[in-house]
Amino acid sequence: MNETKPRVLIIDDDDEIRDILNELLSAVYDCTTCSSAADALAVLASDSFDVILSDINMPEMTGLEMIPYLANVAPRSVVVMISGQLMIESAIDAMRAGAFDYITKPFDLPQVKTVVSRAVDHGKRLHSPMLGGNLKDKAVERLEQALKDGAFVVHYQPQVDIQSNSVVGAEALVRWNDECRLRLPGEFIPLAEETGLIVELGESVLRAACAQARRWHDSGLAGFRVAVNVSPQQLQHDDFPGTVAEILETTGLPPRNLEIEVTETSLMQDPEAGIRTLHALRKMGVKIAIDDFGTGYSSLGYLKRLPIDSVKLDASFVKDATRHPDDAALVMAIITLAHNLRKKVIAEGIESEDQLAFLRLLRCDEGQGYFLGRPGSSDEMGLRLERRQDDLGHVPQTMFRTSLAAHDYAAA
Ligand code: C2E
Ligand code: MG
Ligand code: MG
Repeated sequence: MNETKPRVLIIDDDDEIRDILNELLSAVYDCTTCSSAADALAVLASDSFDVILSDINMPEMTGLEMIPYLANVAPRSVVVMISGQLMIESAIDAMRAGAFDYITKPFDLPQVKTVVSRAVDHGKRLHSPMLGGNLKDKAVERLEQALKDGAFVVHYQPQVDIQSNSVVGAEALVRWNDECRLRLPGEFIPLAEETGLIVELGESVLRAACAQARRWHDSGLAGFRVAVNVSPQQLQHDDFPGTVAEILETTGLPPRNLEIEVTETSLMQDPEAGIRTLHALRKMGVKIAIDDFGTGYSSLGYLKRLPIDSVKLDASFVKDATRHPDDAALVMAIITLAHNLRKKVIAEGIESEDQLAFLRLLRCDEGQGYFLGRPGSSDEMGLRLERRQDDLGHVPQTMFRTSLAAHDYAAA
Protein backbone atom coordinates (compact mmCIF):
# COMPACT_ATOMS: atom_id res chain seq x y z
CA MET A 1 0.00 0.00 0.00
CA ASN A 2 1.25 3.47 -0.87
CA GLU A 3 2.38 5.18 2.33
CA THR A 4 1.59 8.71 1.26
CA LYS A 5 -1.58 8.28 -0.73
CA PRO A 6 -4.65 6.95 1.05
CA ARG A 7 -6.48 4.32 -0.94
CA VAL A 8 -9.96 4.92 -2.24
CA LEU A 9 -12.50 2.49 -3.56
CA ILE A 10 -15.18 3.96 -5.81
CA ILE A 11 -18.31 1.91 -6.30
CA ASP A 12 -20.80 3.11 -8.83
CA ASP A 13 -22.99 1.76 -11.58
CA ASP A 14 -22.82 4.95 -13.58
CA ASP A 15 -19.84 5.03 -15.97
CA GLU A 16 -19.78 8.78 -16.33
CA ILE A 17 -19.82 9.55 -12.63
CA ARG A 18 -17.21 6.87 -11.95
CA ASP A 19 -14.91 8.35 -14.58
CA ILE A 20 -15.30 11.87 -13.20
CA LEU A 21 -14.57 10.68 -9.67
CA ASN A 22 -11.61 8.69 -10.84
CA GLU A 23 -10.12 11.64 -12.63
CA LEU A 24 -10.74 14.08 -9.80
CA LEU A 25 -9.53 11.84 -7.03
CA SER A 26 -6.59 10.13 -8.65
CA ALA A 27 -4.33 13.13 -8.08
CA VAL A 28 -4.89 12.90 -4.36
CA TYR A 29 -5.61 9.24 -3.79
CA ASP A 30 -4.80 5.81 -5.16
CA CYS A 31 -8.11 4.81 -6.67
CA THR A 32 -9.66 1.47 -7.38
CA THR A 33 -13.02 1.47 -9.11
CA CYS A 34 -15.82 -1.04 -9.29
CA SER A 35 -18.83 -1.07 -11.50
CA SER A 36 -21.36 -2.88 -9.36
CA ALA A 37 -22.18 -3.90 -5.83
CA ALA A 38 -21.14 -7.48 -6.57
CA ASP A 39 -17.73 -6.41 -7.86
CA ALA A 40 -17.38 -4.11 -4.89
CA LEU A 41 -17.97 -6.88 -2.42
CA ALA A 42 -15.35 -9.01 -4.16
CA VAL A 43 -12.80 -6.20 -3.99
CA LEU A 44 -13.62 -5.38 -0.40
CA ALA A 45 -13.25 -8.99 0.62
CA SER A 46 -9.70 -9.16 -0.62
CA ASP A 47 -8.43 -5.71 0.31
CA SER A 48 -8.87 -2.75 2.57
CA PHE A 49 -9.27 0.93 1.80
CA ASP A 50 -9.03 4.24 3.54
CA VAL A 51 -11.97 5.77 1.82
CA ILE A 52 -14.89 4.04 0.19
CA LEU A 53 -17.19 6.04 -2.01
CA SER A 54 -20.30 4.03 -2.61
CA ASP A 55 -24.01 3.96 -3.31
CA ILE A 56 -23.77 6.76 -5.74
CA ASN A 57 -26.31 5.36 -8.08
CA MET A 58 -27.06 1.98 -6.62
CA PRO A 59 -30.49 0.93 -5.48
CA GLU A 60 -31.00 1.84 -1.83
CA MET A 61 -31.24 -1.74 -0.69
CA THR A 62 -27.85 -2.63 -2.07
CA GLY A 63 -26.27 0.24 -0.22
CA LEU A 64 -27.98 -0.69 3.02
CA GLU A 65 -27.06 -4.32 2.67
CA MET A 66 -23.48 -3.32 2.18
CA ILE A 67 -23.14 -1.37 5.40
CA PRO A 68 -22.76 -4.31 7.81
CA TYR A 69 -20.50 -5.95 5.28
CA LEU A 70 -18.30 -2.90 5.16
CA ALA A 71 -18.09 -2.88 8.92
CA ASN A 72 -16.77 -6.43 8.88
CA VAL A 73 -14.36 -6.40 6.00
CA ALA A 74 -13.14 -2.85 6.02
CA PRO A 75 -13.01 -1.68 9.60
CA ARG A 76 -10.11 0.66 8.94
CA SER A 77 -11.88 2.41 6.10
CA VAL A 78 -13.50 5.75 6.06
CA VAL A 79 -16.78 5.06 4.35
CA VAL A 80 -18.33 7.70 2.15
CA MET A 81 -21.91 7.11 1.19
CA ILE A 82 -23.22 9.88 -1.00
CA SER A 83 -25.64 10.24 -3.80
CA GLY A 84 -25.93 12.39 -6.91
CA GLN A 85 -23.26 14.21 -8.83
CA LEU A 86 -23.70 17.57 -7.13
CA MET A 87 -23.19 16.01 -3.74
CA ILE A 88 -20.15 14.14 -4.95
CA GLU A 89 -18.48 17.26 -6.24
CA SER A 90 -19.22 19.18 -3.05
CA ALA A 91 -17.90 16.24 -1.05
CA ILE A 92 -14.69 16.15 -3.00
CA ASP A 93 -14.18 19.89 -2.58
CA ALA A 94 -14.74 19.57 1.13
CA MET A 95 -12.44 16.59 1.52
CA ARG A 96 -9.71 18.31 -0.43
CA ALA A 97 -10.00 21.27 1.85
CA GLY A 98 -9.47 18.83 4.71
CA ALA A 99 -12.89 19.47 6.18
CA PHE A 100 -13.52 15.82 6.96
CA ASP A 101 -12.62 12.27 6.14
CA TYR A 102 -16.04 10.89 6.49
CA ILE A 103 -19.29 11.61 4.68
CA THR A 104 -22.41 9.55 4.67
CA LYS A 105 -25.93 9.60 3.43
CA PRO A 106 -28.17 10.78 6.25
CA PHE A 107 -29.01 7.22 7.33
CA ASP A 108 -29.29 7.23 11.08
CA LEU A 109 -28.71 3.51 11.21
CA PRO A 110 -26.94 1.58 13.93
CA GLN A 111 -24.82 -0.03 11.25
CA VAL A 112 -23.56 3.33 10.09
CA LYS A 113 -22.63 4.17 13.65
CA THR A 114 -20.70 0.93 13.91
CA VAL A 115 -18.69 1.78 10.82
CA VAL A 116 -18.08 5.28 12.07
CA SER A 117 -16.95 4.24 15.52
CA ARG A 118 -14.59 1.66 14.06
CA ALA A 119 -13.10 4.31 11.82
CA VAL A 120 -12.61 6.51 14.88
CA ASP A 121 -11.05 3.65 16.79
CA HIS A 122 -8.52 3.31 14.07
CA GLY A 123 -7.44 6.89 14.27
CA LYS A 124 -9.39 8.44 11.42
CA ARG A 125 -10.43 12.02 11.73
CA LEU A 126 -14.12 12.41 11.89
CA HIS A 127 -15.62 15.83 11.70
CA SER A 128 -19.16 16.56 12.62
CA PRO A 129 -21.78 17.12 11.51
CA MET A 130 -21.06 13.87 9.82
CA LEU A 131 -24.38 12.80 8.42
CA GLY A 132 -24.25 14.77 5.25
CA GLY A 133 -26.05 17.86 6.48
CA ASN A 134 -23.45 20.46 5.58
CA LEU A 135 -22.72 18.74 2.30
CA LYS A 136 -26.27 18.95 1.27
CA ASP A 137 -26.46 22.56 2.40
CA LYS A 138 -23.57 23.32 0.10
CA ALA A 139 -25.24 21.66 -2.87
CA VAL A 140 -28.50 23.50 -2.12
CA GLU A 141 -26.63 26.77 -1.83
CA ARG A 142 -25.12 26.24 -5.26
CA LEU A 143 -28.55 25.53 -6.72
CA GLU A 144 -30.02 28.64 -5.12
CA GLN A 145 -27.15 30.74 -6.36
CA ALA A 146 -27.57 29.35 -9.87
CA LEU A 147 -31.24 30.33 -9.79
CA LYS A 148 -30.33 33.84 -8.66
CA ASP A 149 -27.65 34.12 -11.34
CA GLY A 150 -30.03 32.97 -14.07
CA ALA A 151 -27.67 30.09 -14.84
CA PHE A 152 -30.42 27.81 -16.11
CA VAL A 153 -31.06 27.69 -19.83
CA VAL A 154 -33.77 26.00 -21.80
CA HIS A 155 -32.98 23.69 -24.68
CA TYR A 156 -35.50 22.45 -27.19
CA GLN A 157 -36.02 19.09 -28.84
CA PRO A 158 -38.15 18.96 -31.98
CA GLN A 159 -41.45 17.12 -31.97
CA VAL A 160 -42.33 15.83 -35.38
CA ASP A 161 -45.57 14.85 -37.07
CA ILE A 162 -44.64 11.31 -38.03
CA GLN A 163 -46.97 11.10 -40.99
CA SER A 164 -45.96 14.37 -42.66
CA ASN A 165 -42.40 14.65 -41.31
CA SER A 166 -42.93 18.28 -40.28
CA VAL A 167 -41.81 19.83 -37.00
CA VAL A 168 -44.94 20.72 -35.05
CA GLY A 169 -43.44 21.67 -31.73
CA ALA A 170 -40.60 21.31 -29.29
CA GLU A 171 -40.11 20.02 -25.77
CA ALA A 172 -38.41 22.47 -23.43
CA LEU A 173 -35.63 20.76 -21.45
CA VAL A 174 -33.79 22.63 -18.74
CA ARG A 175 -29.97 22.69 -18.48
CA TRP A 176 -27.71 24.25 -15.89
CA ASN A 177 -24.93 26.34 -17.34
CA ASP A 178 -22.47 25.65 -14.55
CA GLU A 179 -19.10 27.23 -15.29
CA CYS A 180 -17.90 25.32 -18.33
CA ARG A 181 -20.37 22.44 -18.02
CA LEU A 182 -23.91 22.08 -19.21
CA ARG A 183 -25.55 19.95 -16.55
CA LEU A 184 -28.47 17.72 -17.49
CA PRO A 185 -31.66 17.62 -15.39
CA GLY A 186 -30.80 14.25 -13.83
CA GLU A 187 -27.99 15.98 -11.96
CA PHE A 188 -30.06 18.65 -10.23
CA ILE A 189 -33.82 18.10 -10.58
CA PRO A 190 -33.96 15.53 -7.73
CA LEU A 191 -32.32 17.98 -5.31
CA ALA A 192 -34.47 20.83 -6.62
CA GLU A 193 -37.54 18.68 -5.96
CA GLU A 194 -36.37 17.66 -2.52
CA THR A 195 -35.80 21.28 -1.49
CA GLY A 196 -38.84 22.80 -3.16
CA LEU A 197 -36.63 24.93 -5.42
CA ILE A 198 -38.26 23.15 -8.34
CA VAL A 199 -41.28 25.45 -8.03
CA GLU A 200 -39.20 28.54 -8.81
CA LEU A 201 -37.02 26.72 -11.34
CA GLY A 202 -40.05 25.23 -13.11
CA GLU A 203 -41.75 28.61 -13.30
CA SER A 204 -38.66 30.19 -14.86
CA VAL A 205 -38.50 27.39 -17.45
CA LEU A 206 -42.18 27.86 -18.24
CA ARG A 207 -41.72 31.60 -18.63
CA ALA A 208 -38.64 31.24 -20.85
CA ALA A 209 -40.27 28.57 -23.01
CA CYS A 210 -43.48 30.58 -23.50
CA ALA A 211 -41.52 33.73 -24.39
CA GLN A 212 -39.45 31.75 -26.90
CA ALA A 213 -42.53 30.09 -28.39
CA ARG A 214 -44.08 33.53 -28.85
CA ARG A 215 -40.97 34.64 -30.80
CA TRP A 216 -41.29 31.60 -33.06
CA HIS A 217 -44.99 32.34 -33.37
CA ASP A 218 -44.15 35.90 -34.48
CA SER A 219 -41.64 34.64 -37.00
CA GLY A 220 -44.44 32.93 -38.90
CA LEU A 221 -44.95 29.64 -37.06
CA ALA A 222 -48.42 30.31 -35.78
CA GLY A 223 -49.25 26.73 -34.82
CA PHE A 224 -45.91 25.89 -33.24
CA ARG A 225 -46.32 24.32 -29.80
CA VAL A 226 -43.95 24.20 -26.88
CA ALA A 227 -44.14 21.37 -24.34
CA VAL A 228 -42.99 22.07 -20.79
CA ASN A 229 -42.34 19.50 -18.05
CA VAL A 230 -44.09 20.24 -14.79
CA SER A 231 -43.07 18.57 -11.55
CA PRO A 232 -45.53 17.22 -8.96
CA GLN A 233 -44.83 20.11 -6.57
CA GLN A 234 -45.60 22.70 -9.21
CA LEU A 235 -48.82 20.95 -10.04
CA GLN A 236 -49.85 20.82 -6.39
CA HIS A 237 -48.70 24.33 -5.67
CA ASP A 238 -51.39 26.90 -4.92
CA ASP A 239 -53.01 28.18 -8.04
CA PHE A 240 -50.76 26.66 -10.67
CA PRO A 241 -53.35 27.48 -13.38
CA GLY A 242 -53.19 31.12 -12.24
CA THR A 243 -49.41 31.14 -12.70
CA VAL A 244 -49.78 29.64 -16.16
CA ALA A 245 -52.44 32.21 -17.10
CA GLU A 246 -50.20 35.06 -15.94
CA ILE A 247 -47.23 33.72 -17.92
CA LEU A 248 -49.35 33.27 -21.07
CA GLU A 249 -50.68 36.78 -20.74
CA THR A 250 -47.28 38.34 -20.10
CA THR A 251 -45.60 36.51 -22.97
CA GLY A 252 -48.56 36.76 -25.32
CA LEU A 253 -48.46 33.07 -26.21
CA PRO A 254 -51.84 31.65 -27.25
CA PRO A 255 -52.78 28.90 -24.74
CA ARG A 256 -53.19 26.28 -27.46
CA ASN A 257 -49.48 26.66 -28.24
CA LEU A 258 -48.53 25.42 -24.79
CA GLU A 259 -48.52 21.79 -23.74
CA ILE A 260 -47.95 20.85 -20.10
CA GLU A 261 -46.28 17.48 -19.51
CA VAL A 262 -47.16 15.70 -16.29
CA THR A 263 -46.26 12.19 -15.19
CA GLU A 264 -48.61 9.55 -13.87
CA THR A 265 -46.79 9.58 -10.54
CA SER A 266 -47.22 13.33 -10.15
CA LEU A 267 -50.97 12.78 -10.12
CA MET A 268 -50.89 9.91 -7.69
CA GLN A 269 -50.43 11.81 -4.44
CA ASP A 270 -53.69 13.67 -4.65
CA PRO A 271 -55.44 12.57 -7.85
CA GLU A 272 -58.59 14.61 -7.28
CA ALA A 273 -56.71 17.89 -6.84
CA GLY A 274 -54.43 17.02 -9.77
CA ILE A 275 -57.35 16.32 -12.04
CA ARG A 276 -59.03 19.59 -11.00
CA THR A 277 -55.84 21.48 -11.92
CA LEU A 278 -55.65 19.76 -15.29
CA HIS A 279 -59.30 20.60 -15.98
CA ALA A 280 -58.62 24.25 -15.17
CA LEU A 281 -55.63 24.33 -17.52
CA ARG A 282 -57.57 22.70 -20.33
CA LYS A 283 -60.42 25.11 -19.83
CA MET A 284 -57.93 27.88 -20.56
CA GLY A 285 -57.02 26.09 -23.82
CA VAL A 286 -53.68 24.67 -22.66
CA LYS A 287 -52.88 21.13 -23.85
CA ILE A 288 -51.97 18.35 -21.44
CA ALA A 289 -49.72 15.36 -22.10
CA ILE A 290 -48.92 12.39 -19.88
CA ASP A 291 -45.15 11.94 -19.94
CA ASP A 292 -43.30 8.60 -19.81
CA PHE A 293 -46.58 6.78 -20.30
CA GLY A 294 -46.48 3.12 -19.35
CA THR A 295 -43.79 3.40 -16.70
CA GLY A 296 -46.07 4.27 -13.78
CA TYR A 297 -48.53 2.06 -12.00
CA SER A 298 -51.81 3.70 -12.77
CA SER A 299 -54.68 1.64 -14.07
CA LEU A 300 -56.07 1.98 -17.55
CA GLY A 301 -59.39 3.12 -16.10
CA TYR A 302 -57.51 6.07 -14.68
CA LEU A 303 -56.38 7.03 -18.18
CA LYS A 304 -60.02 7.35 -19.18
CA ARG A 305 -60.66 9.80 -16.33
CA LEU A 306 -57.71 12.05 -17.02
CA PRO A 307 -58.40 15.28 -18.86
CA ILE A 308 -55.48 14.96 -21.24
CA ASP A 309 -54.81 15.51 -24.93
CA SER A 310 -51.84 13.26 -25.53
CA VAL A 311 -49.94 10.31 -24.26
CA LYS A 312 -46.15 10.26 -24.51
CA LEU A 313 -45.14 6.70 -25.16
CA ASP A 314 -42.06 6.07 -23.02
CA ALA A 315 -38.74 5.53 -24.78
CA SER A 316 -38.29 2.13 -23.13
CA PHE A 317 -41.14 0.72 -25.26
CA VAL A 318 -39.87 2.34 -28.43
CA LYS A 319 -36.37 0.99 -27.84
CA ASP A 320 -37.24 -2.66 -28.34
CA ALA A 321 -40.38 -2.33 -30.46
CA THR A 322 -38.59 -3.31 -33.65
CA ARG A 323 -36.72 -6.17 -32.02
CA HIS A 324 -39.08 -7.99 -29.70
CA PRO A 325 -42.62 -8.99 -30.59
CA ASP A 326 -43.80 -8.42 -27.01
CA ASP A 327 -42.63 -4.82 -27.07
CA ALA A 328 -44.15 -4.32 -30.50
CA ALA A 329 -47.44 -5.68 -29.16
CA LEU A 330 -47.33 -3.27 -26.21
CA VAL A 331 -46.65 -0.28 -28.43
CA MET A 332 -49.48 -1.26 -30.68
CA ALA A 333 -51.86 -1.74 -27.77
CA ILE A 334 -51.00 1.64 -26.23
CA ILE A 335 -51.43 3.47 -29.54
CA THR A 336 -54.74 1.76 -30.21
CA LEU A 337 -56.02 2.38 -26.69
CA ALA A 338 -55.01 6.05 -26.76
CA HIS A 339 -56.59 6.58 -30.17
CA ASN A 340 -59.80 4.90 -29.05
CA LEU A 341 -59.88 7.32 -26.13
CA ARG A 342 -59.31 10.16 -28.64
CA LYS A 343 -55.82 10.95 -27.37
CA LYS A 344 -52.84 11.70 -29.53
CA VAL A 345 -49.69 9.58 -29.17
CA ILE A 346 -46.21 11.08 -29.10
CA ALA A 347 -43.43 8.49 -29.15
CA GLU A 348 -40.28 9.33 -27.20
CA GLY A 349 -36.71 8.21 -27.80
CA ILE A 350 -36.83 7.43 -31.53
CA GLU A 351 -33.23 6.66 -32.38
CA SER A 352 -33.45 4.83 -35.70
CA GLU A 353 -35.14 4.83 -39.07
CA ASP A 354 -36.63 1.43 -38.31
CA GLN A 355 -38.31 2.66 -35.15
CA LEU A 356 -39.70 5.67 -36.99
CA ALA A 357 -41.00 3.53 -39.85
CA PHE A 358 -42.60 1.10 -37.41
CA LEU A 359 -44.34 3.86 -35.49
CA ARG A 360 -45.51 5.42 -38.71
CA LEU A 361 -47.02 2.13 -39.76
CA LEU A 362 -48.90 1.96 -36.47
CA ARG A 363 -50.21 5.47 -37.13
CA CYS A 364 -48.49 6.97 -34.15
CA ASP A 365 -49.12 10.72 -34.40
CA GLU A 366 -45.90 12.38 -33.35
CA GLY A 367 -42.36 11.49 -32.39
CA GLN A 368 -39.30 12.81 -30.70
CA GLY A 369 -35.81 11.39 -30.43
CA TYR A 370 -32.19 11.63 -31.48
CA PHE A 371 -33.01 10.35 -34.96
CA LEU A 372 -35.37 13.26 -35.50
CA GLY A 373 -33.29 15.85 -33.65
CA ARG A 374 -31.33 16.14 -30.43
CA PRO A 375 -32.13 18.83 -27.89
CA GLY A 376 -30.34 22.09 -28.72
CA SER A 377 -30.31 25.76 -27.79
CA SER A 378 -33.11 28.06 -28.94
CA ASP A 379 -30.80 29.34 -31.70
CA GLU A 380 -30.13 25.83 -32.93
CA MET A 381 -33.82 25.06 -32.82
CA GLY A 382 -34.51 28.31 -34.70
CA LEU A 383 -32.12 27.32 -37.48
CA ARG A 384 -33.72 23.93 -37.68
CA LEU A 385 -37.13 25.52 -37.99
CA GLU A 386 -35.92 27.79 -40.77
CA ARG A 387 -34.86 24.72 -42.66
CA ARG A 388 -38.06 23.04 -41.52
CA GLN A 389 -38.15 19.57 -42.93
CA ASP A 390 -34.79 19.52 -44.64
CA ASP A 391 -32.99 17.89 -41.76
CA LEU A 392 -35.62 15.42 -40.83
CA GLY A 393 -34.25 12.37 -42.58
CA HIS A 394 -36.39 11.67 -45.62
CA VAL A 395 -37.55 8.26 -44.65
CA PRO A 396 -39.49 6.51 -47.38
CA GLN A 397 -42.88 5.45 -46.10
CA THR A 398 -42.22 1.85 -47.13
CA MET A 399 -38.82 1.53 -45.54
CA PHE A 400 -38.62 -1.10 -42.83
CA ARG A 401 -35.62 -3.24 -42.37
CA THR A 402 -35.97 -5.23 -39.22
CA SER A 403 -36.44 -8.92 -38.72
CA LEU A 404 -39.97 -8.25 -37.56
CA ALA A 405 -42.62 -7.95 -40.22
CA ALA A 406 -44.24 -4.78 -39.03
CA HIS A 407 -47.39 -5.22 -41.04
CA ASP A 408 -48.06 -8.50 -39.23
CA TYR A 409 -48.28 -6.57 -36.00
CA ALA A 410 -50.17 -3.73 -37.56
CA ALA A 411 -52.69 -6.13 -39.02
CA ALA A 412 -53.05 -8.35 -35.96
P1 C2E B 1 -38.50 13.69 -20.34
O1 C2E B 1 -39.51 14.75 -20.15
O2 C2E B 1 -39.01 12.30 -20.60
O3 C2E B 1 -37.57 14.20 -21.49
C1 C2E B 1 -37.00 13.39 -22.47
C2 C2E B 1 -35.58 13.06 -22.14
O4 C2E B 1 -35.11 12.10 -23.09
C3 C2E B 1 -34.63 14.25 -22.30
O5 C2E B 1 -33.55 14.07 -21.37
C4 C2E B 1 -34.10 14.07 -23.71
O6 C2E B 1 -32.86 14.70 -23.94
C5 C2E B 1 -33.98 12.57 -23.77
N1 C2E B 1 -34.05 12.07 -25.13
C6 C2E B 1 -34.67 12.60 -26.18
N2 C2E B 1 -34.55 11.84 -27.29
C7 C2E B 1 -33.81 10.77 -26.93
C8 C2E B 1 -33.34 9.62 -27.62
O7 C2E B 1 -33.57 9.41 -28.84
N3 C2E B 1 -32.63 8.71 -26.91
C9 C2E B 1 -32.35 8.90 -25.58
N4 C2E B 1 -31.62 7.96 -24.96
N5 C2E B 1 -32.79 9.97 -24.87
C10 C2E B 1 -33.51 10.90 -25.54
P2 C2E B 1 -33.11 15.23 -20.40
O8 C2E B 1 -33.08 16.52 -21.10
O9 C2E B 1 -31.89 14.74 -19.71
O10 C2E B 1 -34.31 15.30 -19.38
C11 C2E B 1 -34.56 14.25 -18.49
C12 C2E B 1 -35.82 14.49 -17.70
O11 C2E B 1 -35.66 15.63 -16.86
C13 C2E B 1 -37.02 14.80 -18.57
O12 C2E B 1 -37.53 13.61 -19.06
C14 C2E B 1 -37.93 15.47 -17.54
O13 C2E B 1 -38.60 14.50 -16.77
C15 C2E B 1 -36.95 16.20 -16.64
N6 C2E B 1 -36.94 17.62 -17.01
C16 C2E B 1 -36.30 18.24 -18.02
N7 C2E B 1 -36.55 19.56 -18.02
C17 C2E B 1 -37.38 19.79 -16.97
C18 C2E B 1 -38.04 20.96 -16.43
O14 C2E B 1 -37.91 22.07 -16.93
N8 C2E B 1 -38.83 20.77 -15.33
C19 C2E B 1 -39.02 19.55 -14.76
N9 C2E B 1 -39.82 19.45 -13.70
N10 C2E B 1 -38.45 18.43 -15.24
C20 C2E B 1 -37.63 18.54 -16.33
MG1 MG C 1 -41.07 15.37 -20.92
MG1 MG D 1 -40.57 11.48 -21.16
